[in-house]
Amino acid sequence: MPEIPIEKFDALAHFLNEAGIPFERNFSIKEYTSFRIGGTAEIFARPKNAQQAAVLQKSIFTDRIPHYYLGGGSNILVSDNPYAGVVIYYDAGEDFLILEQSADFLRVSIPASARAPLAGKRISALGYTGMEFLTTIPGYIGGAVIQNAGCYGQELCDITESVEFCLNGEVITIPKEEADFSYRSSRFKTETESLITSLTVRLSRGDESQIRSRIEDYKQRRLNSQPRNRRSAGSVFKNPHSSVSEKKAWQLIDQCGLRGTVAGDAEISSEHCNFIVNRGKATSQDVYSLICLIEETVYSQTGIRLEREVVLLGDF
Ligand SMILES: Cc1cc2nc3c(=O)[nH]c(=O)nc-3n(C[C@H](O)[C@H](O)[C@H](O)COP(=O)(O)OP(=O)(O)OC[C@H]3O[C@@H](n4cnc5c(N)ncnc54)[C@H](O)[C@@H]3O)c2cc1C
Repeated sequence: MPEIPIEKFDALAHFLNEAGIPFERNFSIKEYTSFRIGGTAEIFARPKNAQQAAVLQKSIFTDRIPHYYLGGGSNILVSDNPYAGVVIYYDAGEDFLILEQSADFLRVSIPASARAPLAGKRISALGYTGMEFLTTIPGYIGGAVIQNAGCYGQELCDITESVEFCLNGEVITIPKEEADFSYRSSRFKTETESLITSLTVRLSRGDESQIRSRIEDYKQRRLNSQPRNRRSAGSVFKNPHSSVSEKKAWQLIDQCGLRGTVAGDAEISSEHCNFIVNRGKATSQDVYSLICLIEETVYSQTGIRLEREVVLLGDF
């Protein structure tokens, strides 16, 4: 990628100031990722609403400035190398808006910047069912849309009514049917220029004690199955389609003898071997080398190509 002259970033910084969009220069991204890994971004911008996001997007698209979108950082591995571009961290807060509420159902609009577990808890507490699974998935609502996040037999698409996003400086809303949701994917996985700004969900009235006990059950299942006190980005690989293998990704990794393998300060978790954990001082290269090792070993021993769930940002 051609180097971007520093004057372009200075001009963008001036533009952001004029537009009242908060930003920082040479900003360390690491604390914004669940791995606690990552270098600096030349500009880290925090648009506060869809209109600010649209204005910013238009400017960086016109000036062809490299950029990426960051949510809760719980499904990404960010390179340790400085990023000569703009990280856009949509920052519209946590407050959801009730659009319609009846004895039977609830329609609610949630900003992409809301933490998914918190939104799940707060909305479930209103006595409507469908968001319980989100209470155990780290990250923000925007990231959950991109990945069609899911667990325990439920996925975000089950409750989605519509998605709002910015593209080419315009704010667009599409119904769920146009979002092309599938297992850990949506159309936004390939249309990477779209910035998700909000999600509208529709939930049914539920029994409050059952909602509470489902949330507690999911919490316990997590505690029993995932590495504790270790930084990670959750499952690194998607489970293969059942037509390819009946085995889950972790079973393939395990059968290849990779559980517990270490590179630098990163480890293929001995508790859940589809997780790679940062033992404290892991670099992005430590984690990346384990990702490549898993891919190569599983392919050479089983003929199955695992597909990454974790997204890589920056140079590797
Ligand atoms: C311990 C642990 C357990 C996990 N368990 C699960 C699980 O059970 N099920 C599951 O599905 N996932 C799981 N994950 C992965 C992750 O939490 C989810 O995929 C989550 O939805 C990602 O959201 P995020 O905001 O953190 O996205 P990020 O990691 O910030 O970003 C992920 C991708 O989405 C893009 N993106 C983020 N926000 C936006 C936006 N507003 N607009 C456009 N693009 C955007 C990024 O550029 C990147 O490509 C787990 C992660 C951890 C650490």
